[in-house]
Amino acid sequence: MSLAEQLDTVTDEAAGTVDRHATTQTFESTDPATGAVVGVFPVHDAAAVGETVERARTASRAWSDLGYDGRRQRLSAYRGYLARRMHELADLVHRENGKPHADAILEITLAIDHLAWAGAHARRTLGPRKVSAGLLAANHAAYLEYQPLGVIGVIGPWNYPVFTPMGSIAYALAAGNTVVVKPSEFTPAIGAWLAAAWRAAVPDAPDALQVVTGFGDTGAALCRAGVDKVAFTGSAPTGKKVMAACAENLVPVLMELGGKDAMIVDDDADVAAAADAAVWGAMSNAGQTCIGIERVYATSAVYDRFVAEVTAQVRALRPGSDDEATYGPMTMPSQIDVVRRHVSEATAAGARAVTGGTDDDAFPAEGYVRPTVLLDVPDDAAAIREETFGPTLTITEVRDAEEALERTNATSYGLAGAVYTKSKARGLDLARRMRSGMTSVNSVLTFASVPALPFGGVGDSGFGRIHGEDGLKEFTRAKAITRQRVPLPVNLMSFGRPAKAADALARVMGLVHGRHR
Ligand code: NAD
Repeated sequence: MSLAEQLDTVTDEAAGTVDRHATTQTFESTDPATGAVVGVFPVHDAAAVGETVERARTASRAWSDLGYDGRRQRLSAYRGYLARRMHELADLVHRENGKPHADAILEITLAIDHLAWAGAHARRTLGPRKVSAGLLAANHAAYLEYQPLGVIGVIGPWNYPVFTPMGSIAYALAAGNTVVVKPSEFTPAIGAWLAAAWRAAVPDAPDALQVVTGFGDTGAALCRAGVDKVAFTGSAPTGKKVMAACAENLVPVLMELGGKDAMIVDDDADVAAAADAAVWGAMSNAGQTCIGIERVYATSAVYDRFVAEVTAQVRALRPGSDDEATYGPMTMPSQIDVVRRHVSEATAAGARAVTGGTDDDAFPAEGYVRPTVLLDVPDDAAAIREETFGPTLTITEVRDAEEALERTNATSYGLAGAVYTKSKARGLDLARRMRSGMTSVNSVLTFASVPALPFGGVGDSGFGRIHGEDGLKEFTRAKAITRQRVPLPVNLMSFGRPAKAADALARVMGLVHGRHR
């Protein structure tokens, strides 16, 4: 089926859901480069969201009963479907999100890899196992397993509209849950495409993955629709609203929020490689990357060379919507105002823009932001403290890597970061002491492409983890079971225990533990 036919289908199916609920409200998603309409989608209200969650609840028993092998086989069918239609989905991502086709291919590739890993590792991570019962319960067998929660609500952003929700979807499904996704109002067609692809690839479990579309109210309705957990990816202010809505019914939450990630460039770094990575980390996807590099702290030994390298590389970048463009337009028009404010406040406070800047040339009317590199930005400027989410980079000179680390960690965020040094020991030491959920040494963003590694932040960047074993466990509840193998002559947990039993127990504890000081 062609892209146009697929889109017609998802739009019609979504509209069908609207009709069933006698809702007529719809919204358009548009191509950020041209303003052309990509699709028209229903605004699902609380009743529609509730019914979708009900269908997911009904489907969850059969999905869970498929077991690890059955789910793995269906997740494989889904990834095969996505892999065969990669260019079609990438075209849609390019049209609705604005990123270059090649970047969309990269994003879809990562999502497929996570689907494969989650399906292949769910049994080993979550399946039943025996654990030691310990001294006090030596006559019992002890079992641990991780059971699915039921229905997971996934609320997603627009910047990585395939990779980001899939980080929750793949792991939640592999763990035995069914999923209802609310994609961003800026990328509903991609969300609807992913759900339509699921129905086509997994026809015997069509309701295991469903989509609802709309704005914040639809997301809030999902929080209150009786789901067993909400996996939220988006900004910290919205995350707080999601937590408040979920708190009403004690619904647990996973929070994947924003960041203000930094790169540390140490004395012995490969400066050209560090500059290349910083430019990619800051500017790709028009800087709209939660784990994008927004700040660099370079030591005095390398600062001048680093700035020169970055400046030369950035001058070669060209935003646009054609095949040769290095990055696309800003997906969400209002983000341009945030970027402009950060840049103009910084320059007003004495920062120098070596490329880009605050003039109209840097912010042309068509929705692009030219790459902007800022030097000498004061520490209290928004460009250092707040998430900019645009193709900008601040570079700050520091005495040494210790000062770089201190300034890297002086933020309320803590999502990820990077370190450049030729010393393995120094790199790992700095990475460990960086206050963030993820750090890559001598590269940027690599941790996101390693399915075995957990992904998530600290502080204002959120809590909980997607990806890896932690990501599978995130969508389960640990279940503990004991089975008495043989009864003991004395049962301490019985009113029939002898009066002296407690004294005997205290003596044994004294012998076993009392010698430890
Ligand atoms: P956003 O917070 O504006 O919206 C995210 C989602 O929440 C959207 O689907 C939106 O419709 C929904 N929403 C809005 N109000 C809601 C409410 N009251 N209740 C429930 N849902 C509601 O974020 P965005 O602009 O779409 O995405 C950009 C942000 O996401 C950035 O801060 C970025 O750093 C972050 N992000 C984080 C990660 C990560 O893994 N940590 C990944 C990608 C993006």
